[in-house]
Amino acid sequence: MTDFTYAVDADGVAIITWDVPGKSMNVMSLEGFRELDTHIDTALADDAVKGVIITSAKKDFAGGMDLNVLAKMKADAGDEPARGLFDGVMMMHGVLRKIERAGMDPKTLKGGKPIAAALPGTAVGIGLELPLACHRIFAANNPKARIGLPEIKVGIFPGGGGTTRLVRKLGAMGASPYLLEGKLVEPAKAKAAGLIDEVADDPVAAAKDWVLNAKDADLVKPWDQKGYKMPGGAPYHPAGFMTFLGANAMVNGKTQGVYPAAKALLSAVYEGALVPFDTALKIEARWFTNIMMNPSSAAMIRSLFLNKEALEKGAVRPRDVPDQSVKKVGILGAGMMGAGIAYVSAMAGIEVVLIDAAQDAAERGKAYSEGLLDKAISRKKSTEEKKAEVLGRITPTTDYAALEGCDLIVEAVFEDPKVKAEVTARTEAVVGADCIFATNTSTLPISELAKASKRPEQFIGIHFFSPVDKMLLVEIIKGKETGDRAVAKALDYVRQIRKTPIVVNDARFFYANRCIIPYINEGVRMVAEGVEPALIENAAKLVGMPLGPLQLVDETSIDLGVKIAKATKAAMGDAYPDDAVDEVLFWMYDQGRLGRKSKSGFYAYDEKGKRIGLWEGLAAQYPVAEDQPDVTEVQHRLLFAQVLEAVRALEDGVLMDIREGDVGAILGWGFAPWSGGPLSWLDMIGAAKAVELCDALTEAYGARFTTPKLLREMAEKGETFYTRFAPERKAA
Ligand code: NAD
Repeated sequence: MTDFTYAVDADGVAIITWDVPGKSMNVMSLEGFRELDTHIDTALADDAVKGVIITSAKKDFAGGMDLNVLAKMKADAGDEPARGLFDGVMMMHGVLRKIERAGMDPKTLKGGKPIAAALPGTAVGIGLELPLACHRIFAANNPKARIGLPEIKVGIFPGGGGTTRLVRKLGAMGASPYLLEGKLVEPAKAKAAGLIDEVADDPVAAAKDWVLNAKDADLVKPWDQKGYKMPGGAPYHPAGFMTFLGANAMVNGKTQGVYPAAKALLSAVYEGALVPFDTALKIEARWFTNIMMNPSSAAMIRSLFLNKEALEKGAVRPRDVPDQSVKKVGILGAGMMGAGIAYVSAMAGIEVVLIDAAQDAAERGKAYSEGLLDKAISRKKSTEEKKAEVLGRITPTTDYAALEGCDLIVEAVFEDPKVKAEVTARTEAVVGADCIFATNTSTLPISELAKASKRPEQFIGIHFFSPVDKMLLVEIIKGKETGDRAVAKALDYVRQIRKTPIVVNDARFFYANRCIIPYINEGVRMVAEGVEPALIENAAKLVGMPLGPLQLVDETSIDLGVKIAKATKAAMGDAYPDDAVDEVLFWMYDQGRLGRKSKSGFYAYDEKGKRIGLWEGLAAQYPVAEDQPDVTEVQHRLLFAQVLEAVRALEDGVLMDIREGDVGAILGWGFAPWSGGPLSWLDMIGAAKAVELCDALTEAYGARFTTPKLLREMAEKGETFYTRFAPERKAA
C-alpha cells in the first residue's frame, strides 16, 4: 500500500501525490511519513529535478494525523512510552525540516530546490503542518475547504512543527486564534491571515509556475535568515511581553487551568520564542510528548475525536437495516423545539411539514428559521438564495393531511401525554404504514407514549437539546417495543442533520437529564446548607463545568425545575430524596424569581437580561454558614452527583455503550470535557479511589452517594470501564 506516489513531469518538476488507498480523506501515518521522506530524498538527489510539488489526488489535501498512530508510538516503546513518542515526533520534525531546507547549503542558504504545496481542498492538522514546512502554499479557490490546526479541540496541540512555524510566521498574537482556539478558515481568509500564500483556480499549475521561477532567496524561511525577529516581538520585547502576559491571563480565564494542552501550548510557544528554530522544535516535541502522556489528553482524544466520530459513522446502528435517510419530515408543534428541529432539517435538505394548532403559530415556527438565516446572511455565512431554498422546504400548516408522504414524524407538542396521544393518532391516520414516529419528550416514558400508537415498533424517542441549532447531541431512546428500523431511521436522520447521536434505553429522564438534574440539585442543596453560592459556582467552573449549577438552573428556568420536581415526587412517592432541594426551588418560584427569562433568579440581571452577579438577597433566606467546605469537597459533590448517575445508567442498562456515556455527557451537558466524560474520569482516578470518595461522601451527606455495586466490584478486581466494557471494535 502506498500513500504517496512520485512522478517527474517533462519540465523536471517532481509531483508527490498524497492518496491514501481506501479512504475518502488523507490521514498521515508513520508509514506515510517514511514514504514521503523517501520521495523527498529521491527528488533532492536527482539532478534532473528542478523542484517539487506536494499535492493530493483527493478532493481535499488531508484531514490530519491518524491519532491512533500516536497511541501506537507510545505502545510500541514498551516501558518507555514517552521516549517512543518523542523519538517518533522528532523523526517527523526531521522529515519536515528536510523539506524546509530542501538541500540548501546551511551557510550560504543557496542551492536548495523549491518545494511547494498545492492544496485542492481542506488541509487541517498535519495537513497544514506539512505545507507550512514547504516554501510556498497554494490553495484551490474552494470556499468549502477548511484550513487550520484544530488539535486543541481534542486536547492536544499542533506537534508537527505547526506551533513553532505558525508563531514565527504570524507572531504569537496573530497565531493565537489558530493555535489556542483551533480556528479553521476558508482559503481566501487563510491567505488574508497569512496562513497560506496563494489562492488559485488551479493550485498545481500555479505551484508549478512558481517552482520553475523560484530564486534561492524565495526558499529561505524568515526564521532561517540572519537577524530574524518574531512578528509582534519575542517575550522580552516590550510588545511581546504584553502579548504573552495577556495570553496567559486569557488562557487561564477561558480554561480555568483545567486544560493541560492549552498550558503546554503556551509553554512551547513562550520557551520556543527564546531560542533558535531547531531548538524550538525540540521544545515543541517535549511539550507535545508531555501532553500525549497526560491522561486527560488521551481521554479527550478518545471521546471527542475517535468515539464521537465512531458514533457519527453509525457504530451502534443496527447493521442489517438498509439506508433510512429521511426525505420528508413532519414536525408536530412549532414552538421552541419544533421550530428549531424544522430549521436543522430544512438546512439538511429535508422537506419539512411544520404543524401547529393555529396557522399563525405554525408561521411563527417557520419565521424562526428566517431569523436564523437572516443573522447568518448578516454575518456573511449564508446568502439570499440559500435562505430562499431552505425556507422553500418548510410548509407551515394546521392541516394534518399535509403529512401524507412523510417518512419520519418528530412530535414536539406540549409535554402532556393526552395531547401527545391525540396527535399520534391523528398523524397515523394520514401517514403511510412505513412512517417512523418520534417524540421529542424530555420527561415522559417512551414506552408509555407508544401505547397511543398502532405501530409501537415504529415509535421512538428523538430527544433534542435546546437550542436545537447549536446543541451537538441528540439522544435516541428505545421504548420497550421499538424496532431496529426505527433506531436506524433515527440514526440516519441525526447523521443527515450532522449531529452526534447516542442510543439509550427508556428510563426516567433517559440519560442526559438523569445526570444533569442531580448536578443542579446538589448545587441548590448546598445553598440550603449555607454554602457560599460563589463557592458553589466557582468550584464547578474550576473543575471544568461550563456553567455552575445555579447558573444552569437560571438558564433552564426555575419553573421548569419546580415542574419536574413535582412530577418526580408524584411518581416516586415516599422514596423521593430531594425535599431539601425543593424547599429552595419552590421558595424562589414563590418569589417570582424564575431564572434568566424573568431577569431574576439565583443571579441578578440588568434590564437587558445580562447577568450582573449572584443575587445578594438569597442570603436573607438562606444565610451563609460560618464554616465553609473546602473547594475540593464541593467539587467532589458536584462531580459525583453526575458520575454516579452515569454508572447507575450503565448498571440499569439505560446506557448500552460506555462511549455513548462519555461522548453524550460532554456534548449534551458539557460535563468537564478535559476528563473525557464521567466514565473516563472514574477510570482516571481509579475505581478504588472513587469508592473511597463515594463512601466518605455517603457518610457525610447521605445515601444519594451510595457506591454502586458495579463500581465496588470493579475496585475489587482492579478494573477500568474501558477495559471491562471495551466497545467491540467495528469498522465504522
Ligand atoms: P412549546 O410550548 O414552545 O411548543 C409546543 C408547541 O406545540 C406550541 O407551539 C403549541 O401551540 C403546539 N401544540 C400544542 N398542542 C398541539 C396540537 N394538538 N397540535 C399541534 N400543535 C400543538 O414547547 P417546547 O419547549 O418546544 O417543547 C416541546 C416538546 O419538546 C415537549 O415535549 C418538551 O418536553 C420537549 N423538549 C423541550 C426542551 C426544551 O428545552 N424546551 C428540550 C427537549 C425536549
